[in-house]
Amino acid sequence: MHNRQLFLSHLAQTTDFPLMIEIEKAEGLYMYGPNGERYLDLISGIGVSNVGHRHPKVLQAMKDQMDKYLHLMVYGEYIQTPQTQLAEALVQTLPDGLDNVYLVNSGSEAVEGALKLAKRYSNRRGIISCVNAYHGSSHGSLSVGGNEIFKRAYRPLLPGISHIHFGKEEDLEDITTDTAAVIMETVQGEAGIRVASESYFKALRKKCDETGTLLILDEIQAGFGRTGKFWAFEHYGIQPDILVCAKGMGGGMPIGAFISSKEIMGHFKNDPLLGHITTFGGHPVSAAASLATIKILQEENIVELVEMKANLFKELLVHPKIKEVRNKGLLMCVAFESFEELKPIIDRAIEMGVVTDWFLFCDDSMRLAPPLVITKEEIKEACEIILKAIEYKA
Ligand code: PMP
Repeated sequence: MHNRQLFLSHLAQTTDFPLMIEIEKAEGLYMYGPNGERYLDLISGIGVSNVGHRHPKVLQAMKDQMDKYLHLMVYGEYIQTPQTQLAEALVQTLPDGLDNVYLVNSGSEAVEGALKLAKRYSNRRGIISCVNAYHGSSHGSLSVGGNEIFKRAYRPLLPGISHIHFGKEEDLEDITTDTAAVIMETVQGEAGIRVASESYFKALRKKCDETGTLLILDEIQAGFGRTGKFWAFEHYGIQPDILVCAKGMGGGMPIGAFISSKEIMGHFKNDPLLGHITTFGGHPVSAAASLATIKILQEENIVELVEMKANLFKELLVHPKIKEVRNKGLLMCVAFESFEELKPIIDRAIEMGVVTDWFLFCDDSMRLAPPLVITKEEIKEACEIILKAIEYKA
């Protein structure tokens, strides 16, 4: 059977509108189809390929590790160099107090671990999250998600969860001494790139400190240079008690982490034993890829250029049909009138060799999250094609 038919017959479908692009190879900014098609990737597998597809240093680190060992033992038992070196490299990017790393497999699992840790540490049960937040698709991470349409088919979900409005200072009053943790994306992604002010984050930090509530920041989409700082919270002069990351962390390999202080994380191994168990968490090949990714981001002047590149996109993406371009660095959202207007634009751009996408909770807007290594020429090419796709008349 043809690949396209196999995709539809035997792979579980997750959406009514799969992009259905067939890829044989990917390298740098480009993905290649079986019939000579070439696509400029403006979504990075949704915020994953920050250093581009198959970065040679990531591939080399993986090959070196594959020559040594693959999986050996469940996470946390053996001393494995890729894991210890990755933890050290992560800690070096972070301020004091975020120096203890729990490696897992994915964003959702990192969120699960962070929520469990907050409960263990505080002995409280209340969790506060935000309206329109996306934290993952497992039961716990779905429970703290902020979009009812996604949740209603799975109730009952975790109890004790309430929602506030992202960026609205008055809502911070809901945080009390019963709250184990507030979980929040530093920049809301699936809501269509929503940012909050520095004063909001300062007030949030203050309220958490006053009530002894842990602040969990989810930087699964916003971390690893995406917003123009290595971590998005650096824009706001605050830091979380638990940081959650994944996606761009692995340079294309599956890995995630929740990171806290040794003191907080220590509550996981006290009576009763075993806070979170994961067989493949911090897989040595993924950990090696992640370490190489961090080094690339640090050594190749990538994060420093994010803001300039985002500004170039904004300068070029001007059209009467574009209502607004919202962004924090290269986490970008191009707003149109409606889903009906946007859908053919995304389809036409793909036909013309540029891949964009939409957001889970903001279907009138185009997602742009290109590899951070995109060049000015590629940005110009991409924007030209997007504008042509808008103008196209069938
Ligand atoms: N949190 C945020 C902010 C995300 O964007 C995502 C993935 N879109 C997740 C959590 C879940 O990550 P994963 O798909 O790796 O489980």
